[in-house]
Parts: sequence; structure tokens; C-alpha cells
Amino acid sequence: MTLETQRRLCVAFAADRGWRVLDVFEDVDVSGAARLEDRPGMSGVLGALSGADYVLAAKQDRYARSVLEFARLSEAAKTAGVTLLTADGHLSPDSSPFLAQVMAAFAEQERETIRTRIQGNKNTLREVGSWLGGLAPYGYKIVRRDKGAYLEIDPEAAAIVRECADRLVRHGATLSSLARDLNERGILPPADHARKRDGRETRGARWSMTTLRDVLISPAARGYLCKAPEGKPRTALHLVPVLGADGEPHRVGPEVLDADTWTTVRHVVESRSVGRGSTRAGRALLLHVAYCAECDAPMYRQRRTVNGKDYSTYVCTKGVGEHGEHVSNIVQASGLEDQVEESFLRAFGRVHLMTEAVTGGRDVAREIRETEEALDNLTGNLAALPAGGRAAQTVVGQIAALEQKLATLQGEAERPLTRAWIREEKTLGDEWRARDTVGRNSLLRDVGTVVSVEPLQPGAERRFTRDRATITFTGPAWYREDPEAAELAAIAAVEEGGESRGPRH
Ligand SMILES: [Zn+2]
Repeated sequence: MTLETQRRLCVAFAADRGWRVLDVFEDVDVSGAARLEDRPGMSGVLGALSGADYVLAAKQDRYARSVLEFARLSEAAKTAGVTLLTADGHLSPDSSPFLAQVMAAFAEQERETIRTRIQGNKNTLREVGSWLGGLAPYGYKIVRRDKGAYLEIDPEAAAIVRECADRLVRHGATLSSLARDLNERGILPPADHARKRDGRETRGARWSMTTLRDVLISPAARGYLCKAPEGKPRTALHLVPVLGADGEPHRVGPEVLDADTWTTVRHVVESRSVGRGSTRAGRALLLHVAYCAECDAPMYRQRRTVNGKDYSTYVCTKGVGEHGEHVSNIVQASGLEDQVEESFLRAFGRVHLMTEAVTGGRDVAREIRETEEALDNLTGNLAALPAGGRAAQTVVGQIAALEQKLATLQGEAERPLTRAWIREEKTLGDEWRARDTVGRNSLLRDVGTVVSVEPLQPGAERRFTRDRATITFTGPAWYREDPEAAELAAIAAVEEGGESRGPRH
């Protein structure tokens, strides 16, 4: 149910009874299982209790998804003399305020959720055919065999997806440079590629950053049937896999990207889109590397050139203006960036790039964790179902399938598994020189660089001095495990005069 729908239901409910709406509170993207006080909307409700007669929510789970938190809310409402209601009638003025009653209502809610979910699965299973009637995701083509339509790898397009993923993850390429490169090579973007494959006329479309991003981060690249959650647009950012009766994503084709690559790509894309909307800050070398020593907030680059000369700065936004939380903290960008570059190259410039290889078995830890979580959810739900009913039988079937899978995975995990860091010919110095600003930024973050910047001391000269910045590297796993790199970093740390500190963000 969308927020809009919930609000409409509640307003109509109140209007029917001639009540005046004092205030409307919403919790967006906050777990209903969180503590009441940790939810902004719910904090508002708690604060408004004393002035109200009724609190109304669309459904009971909008109040809380945890019995304990709901009990606390009921208690607070009782003390304030306020009645909690739901527009769906689950909670009415006649409801007994006893906890037993509340828990019974919760159990009912759970049962309904499961019924809806099972029904939903049936519906989506029926929808497979019709979805396949649409366009195949980029990287796939539709083939018909037996009575159905199936996705198969489109080798030409899949190779492009895999190449871009690899360059993005392992070589620090950016979406914009990749899109430009694809256009220069005359590679057709998804819609035109499909048109050409079907023997239709192409329209001269070109790759954009968004097209490429959507291809790379969509769960469709894993071979999963996808859908947008209710109320969300059907864009790659929102797509989630449809789960089958076995609790697993519903697979409709082979994978173009394996689980680890896909997860990493998504992580890289999301971490780089931090600060979107302020594109200037998004291109800063020291974004989420430089922090204010006064308040630990990230410092943002303010671009400024006068007569062709660069006067850009890094600024802590918490220390700006007369209402700032602390003294202003502004530092010359070029000076700080040069200092960090030198420090990085001194510590890591001659260190070889390391990539991790896993041999002797599959790395199944992540899959085991996911399966255990899924089992946990299902068994929790089972307790609330009427024993022997059809819903319970379905859940029991899902649990059995997942337990079988878990046993297989644990069997695989017990086989010898060796992780090895492969030393590449290239050094981190080579990488630094080959990468653009965004690529260098991720390189700095890879080695756990933290630059802590002190405000200018009162009375000090206003030119840039290096003693304002403390640079530390914590390093990723390979660095901590590599004696040579550790030694070099230790030398660098001494030269910087700073002690090694853990990453703060
Ligand atoms: Zn600050």
C-alpha cells in the first residue's frame, strides 16, 4: 500500500466520523521493527499524544512490526488517554487493551501477510509467460522451445556487459568513460541492439551513463525474473527478483554476471553516486576521504576559478556561517590534494596491485548466510499459521527446500578452500596514473585513506600549510596480509608523523 493510499484511507476514515485531523506523521524507509523513538514519524506521534483523542493508522503493522514496540506504544497511548485505531478496523475502540489481544491481532496480521505472499507467488508464476513476451533484458535473447519462451545468453551483448563490469570494478573506469567508449566503438545500445537483432531498422540511439548503469545493476543480469515493488517505478534501481515457491529468486535464464561481480558492480555504482545532485562534489578527489577534525563530517569540494586560476577549497558545511556548529574549516583544495597524492604514492606507489583468487572450492559463505536468513524468516512465520492448513503446508515445503540447499552448501564449504592474493604486474602507482579523478578516489578509499583536516589556527597565515592535515591508511585485506605493503605503510606513517587510526566512516 503506497503512502498516498494510506493517507487517503486515514483521512477518509476521520472525515466519516467528523474528526479534525491535527497532524499527519509518516515513516518512510524506516523499519517498523525499529524502536519507536528511532522512527522520526513515530517520535512525532509520541510527542502529539497529549493533544489528541485518537491516533489512526492504515494498518496495525504501520504502528509497529514488533510486539514489544507495539506494547510500548499502547502503554503510552493508554497513559495519555488516547485510543489507537486502524482504518482497516483491526483496532477499534472496542479492542481490549490487553497485550494478549494485541498479540492475537499481530498473529492474524502475520497469517494474512503470508497468505498474500503465497497468493502473490502464484500470481507471479502465472505471469512468467507474459513477461517473457516483452523485451529480453540486454545480454539476453528469447528462444522458444517446448511450449514456453526462455531467455538465453546473447553472446555479443553479454560480452559487453561483462567487459564493462570488469573495467568498472577492476580498472576504475567510470560509467561516463565507458559509455563514451561504447559509442566510439559503434556498439549499439539495448533498444537498437534488439532492433538490429530482429532485422528491424535502428534509430541511431547512443549509450548514456544511465542506460549503461541500468544494464549493469539490474538483477536481470543475474538471470532473475524481476519486478518493481508496489508503488515504485520500474527502473533498474528499484527492481527486485521475484521469489519462487522455494523461496529462491525465480530464475528465467543463465547469469550474465555472477553473484560476486554483480554485487560489486552495484556497490561501486552506488558508492560513486553519493552526492548526486551536487555533481561538483561528486567529482572531488577527496570525497569521503577528507574529514573535518572538528566534527568528523565529510568535507566537500567547492569549485572556484578566477581568471583561470584555481581557488577551489574543501569545506566542512557544519562550520559555515554565523550559525555554524564550530569555527569555519576551509582548506585550499589543490594543496591538500597534492599532499594526499604524494603521501599515497610514497606509501603504495611501488606496491603491486593485488587481486583475490579463490581456488579449491566455491566460496559459499555468502550463500549460506542468505539461506539461513531466509530460513529464519520462514520458520518465524510458520509459528503464526494454523497447523496443517494449506498456507502452513506451502511454508513447510519452502523450508524443506531451503534446508536441503543449506546442507548442500555446508557440504561444499567443508571442502578445502584457498584464498590467495594474486600479485599483478601493475603497481598502485601505475593504477593511479591510469585512472581519472573518480577512479583515484576509489583507489584512495580502497586503501582506507582518512585525511583529517584541522581548522586554520587563529592568527595563522592564510596560506596552505601541510600540518593541518593528518593522513592515515588502514588498508584493505590484501594490504594487511602483505608484509611488504605493511612495512612501506609503516614507514610512510612515521614520515607523516601520524598514528594509524581506524576508519571513521
Ligand atoms: Zn566540521
